[in-house]
Amino acid sequence: MERDLKQLVAQMTLEEKAGLCSGLDFWHLKGVERLGIPSIMVTDGPHGLRKQDTSADHLGLTNSVPATCFPSAVGLASSWNRELIRQVGVALGEECQAENVAVLLGPGANIKRSPLNGRNFEYFSEDPYLASEMAANHISGVQSQGVGTSLKHFAVNNQEHRRMSVDAVVDERTLREIYLAAFEGAVKQAQPWTIMSSYNRVNGTYVSENERLLTDILRNEWGFEGFVVSDWGAVNEQVDSLAAGMDLEMPSSNGIGEHKIVAAVREGRLSEAELDQAVLRILGIIQRAADNRRPDATYDKAAHHQLARQTAQESMVLLKNEGGLLPLSKTANVAVIGGFATKSRYQGSGSSHIVPTRLDQAYEEMAKLSSGQLVYAQGYPMEHDQIDEALLAEAVEAARNAETAVLFVGLPDRYESEGFDRQHLQLPDNHLKLIEEIAKVQPRTVVVLSNGAPIEMPWLGKVQAVLEGYLGGQAFGSAVADLLYGDANPSGKLAETFPLALAHNPSHLNFPGEGDRVEYREGIFVGYRYYEAKQLPVLFPFGFGLSYTRFEYTGLRISQPRIQDTEMVEIEVKVKNIGDRAGKEIVQLYVADVHSQVIRPQKELKEFAKVELQPGEEKTVVFKLGKRAFAYYNTLLGDWHVESGEFLIRVGGASDRIACEESIYVESTVELPQSYTRNSTLGDLLGNPKTASLVQPLMTTFQQEGAFSAESEDESHKGMMEAIFKYMPLRSLIAFSGGRVTEADIEAVLESLNTL
Ligand code: BGC
Repeated sequence: MERDLKQLVAQMTLEEKAGLCSGLDFWHLKGVERLGIPSIMVTDGPHGLRKQDTSADHLGLTNSVPATCFPSAVGLASSWNRELIRQVGVALGEECQAENVAVLLGPGANIKRSPLNGRNFEYFSEDPYLASEMAANHISGVQSQGVGTSLKHFAVNNQEHRRMSVDAVVDERTLREIYLAAFEGAVKQAQPWTIMSSYNRVNGTYVSENERLLTDILRNEWGFEGFVVSDWGAVNEQVDSLAAGMDLEMPSSNGIGEHKIVAAVREGRLSEAELDQAVLRILGIIQRAADNRRPDATYDKAAHHQLARQTAQESMVLLKNEGGLLPLSKTANVAVIGGFATKSRYQGSGSSHIVPTRLDQAYEEMAKLSSGQLVYAQGYPMEHDQIDEALLAEAVEAARNAETAVLFVGLPDRYESEGFDRQHLQLPDNHLKLIEEIAKVQPRTVVVLSNGAPIEMPWLGKVQAVLEGYLGGQAFGSAVADLLYGDANPSGKLAETFPLALAHNPSHLNFPGEGDRVEYREGIFVGYRYYEAKQLPVLFPFGFGLSYTRFEYTGLRISQPRIQDTEMVEIEVKVKNIGDRAGKEIVQLYVADVHSQVIRPQKELKEFAKVELQPGEEKTVVFKLGKRAFAYYNTLLGDWHVESGEFLIRVGGASDRIACEESIYVESTVELPQSYTRNSTLGDLLGNPKTASLVQPLMTTFQQEGAFSAESEDESHKGMMEAIFKYMPLRSLIAFSGGRVTEADIEAVLESLNTL
């Protein structure tokens, strides 16, 4: 469909153009038959296809065509494997082609501000760099198949509580460094066809009416080229949305939106040019979808299932393995306990809910790999949290008689979903009781967790091993079996911190806010940035995960000891597998600013790589860092800025396991705009060689005699005086000099300072 889109727009009536800006139904955009513009389908997302019957509305969430259910985003991110995420994207794109879906509604790049967010399982990380890298690879995988994505939920949608009305109040630096950065990297790297604007408000304005976010930042700064679609039902006033840069309202507004648009254009409240621009953007994507449509596309279900299994293996995180209890011997007699072993919890609830093409159950899959005796006991009821004594007693008996107990526990469906947040981080009472009772009779107890976000683990000391399975998708069961028996080596690492207690979370005092207002008072100190700065012990730190082998880091080398912020620097480090199994290590590079005028986290993730190593094998990992790795967002400049000085490059296998570090000096090429006033402090003026030379003559006059005399012999007195001067404003030289320094002197100096 090679067509001149502008000409096409010119042929459309006002009504047709206005009509195109809202959906046909729940999942389709409108077409214009007389002009040969087809109607395309968009659908959820993000880790599998939820293609509903056209008649099915949004709330009929559980019925859709079968599709491969990959691990949800929390798991995908724990793989830290860019290439794997890309492959998952490719597979999703193939399934969309096979189902005639033009745009997949995902991925979600929102930051995990609080572990309570009911939708955390659909988001990647508490760290913006990791989230943006994962999102970018997901997007480029899907889009490589000629299918679009919708990066969502832009922006600052970090809770489900009052999600359609809440105002997220967040300062500019935090917005840029944490909440927008996750989207920025993905937009710049992968150019999603569409972006979904979120339900909430940001700093007082609904995102779907927020010109600053949708036009100034997203399009003008980041260069986004596609269209912005509202989250389903997120439009407050469509005319205001259109003017702000939101192009398409979904789902259909049954004619209401288009009538308003037509009236607004006729009455001169909305320019037709603005409408044309939105139409042009929508047509651009419709055309792209039509051009890339493969009507005969099919996909290989078995191959996709296999990919789901490999992805699940890499997504799971081994959190504890005392005495090397895992991997289990295949001849071991094992009690497999917990309803999740035969009815796995492998995905979250809400709009991402998928009907899988098949479903692997852990107990069955363990039986396939084991030649020992396996006994199953349900242990707890599935439908509620109450303890069932009979089920419990049966499980305890099974555990007592086995060599090892493997417990499948976690959060039931009813605990985590789109639409509401969790209230606490605890497991259900009956799961907790089961762990306690089994641990009493069976010292060799392994806990396998199914949950989409952190939980508290008061029982951690009582069990020997813990495997965080997250919501592992349809191959959850087989992937767990592979890992438990050592057919695969765990290689996932946490993309989020597990706090010791909910109250330790930085957002705790301001989550979910008061009424319709939530203030992000913790600022940039989200996740590990906070726990590290506060020196708070955590249950498991960001970036943490064990393997059945061990890795050693040596030879950290920085290509240049000193760079300008316009240059790139290469960092090299050697990683060696010093155990006796093949494995994958996630090498993490953090940057720390040694001395900074602005408040900064102790370190921030700026690069990572996943490397596969055979026993004894060593590889050199090379990273490239540029300005952004050292910069913070300077609100005066309205840009990223590097403060000249020393930075530490810290490399290791987890945020708390830095194996080696080296320093580098980065010099800024940008001078911060400065303006000096009577209230500029003497410390600031004398601390900068350029300004010091202008102020020094005044200081000499000032110190000629009296209490502030520079003549004093006493070194400690001198030091004390200097410390006091530091915080005195320039104008105080007049008051304290007994008339020697005059108003005119100060004005003259200020004039020279401000023309520097
Ligand atoms: C969700 C989106 C989803 C859309 C369509 C909304 O409720 O927030 O993530 O894509 O529905 O199902």
